[in-house]
Amino acid sequence: MSFFGGSHVKCMMCGTEVEVKHGLSSVDVMDTDLDLRPRGVARLSEKNSAQFCPNCGYASFDLEKDVTFGRRELLEKEEYQEIFHNELLKEDIKKFFLLGILMDDVGEIQRSASSYLRASWCAEDIGDEEWMIKSRKRAILEFEKSDFTWKKSQVLAILVDCYRRIGEFDNAIKAINKFGLENVSDIVVRRVLEFQMKLCQEKDKAVHTASQVQV
Ligand SMILES: [Zn+2]
Repeated sequence: MSFFGGSHVKCMMCGTEVEVKHGLSSVDVMDTDLDLRPRGVARLSEKNSAQFCPNCGYASFDLEKDVTFGRRELLEKEEYQEIFHNELLKEDIKKFFLLGILMDDVGEIQRSASSYLRASWCAEDIGDEEWMIKSRKRAILEFEKSDFTWKKSQVLAILVDCYRRIGEFDNAIKAINKFGLENVSDIVVRRVLEFQMKLCQEKDKAVHTASQVQV
């Protein structure tokens, strides 16, 4: 069972009152996609993990907090402004993509990667192929940049899924081989990567879930 609530927060960049939604609680135990995207109700809650000010374009985990470490000028950058003013782009995709840009600018690689990945999920939900691919490519850049310094093989598993979902099967296989399956000590992750290998060989770019992996 889940409860969703809303509230008003004040954007710390421009002072505008913005209505935001919260995923207050969820006790559902859900299966996930291979890139750890939650399923069911948890998926809706996930979409509220970033907030967006439609007045100044600030995207944040919390509009009342400054994720730029005082570097407000980052919002003025050309690409940021271009995306903020893209009226054809749905707000969910926009907020996660913009947050991805900001996080990259302040060197928060892991958060940048997961924000871009979330932008991709939102694009996928409305069949926006262009932004699904564009966002995943940006997530890939961040994951590659991270050099797997955090949680190593789990990151590799998500990176591989990103490559596969946009049809870059060779790059997915290359990433697994570069890391080396024998170096993956976590047995669950190893099984996931073996499953990914099989999917890539079959040129399958569909969504698959963790429950399909035989451990
Ligand atoms: Zn604002």
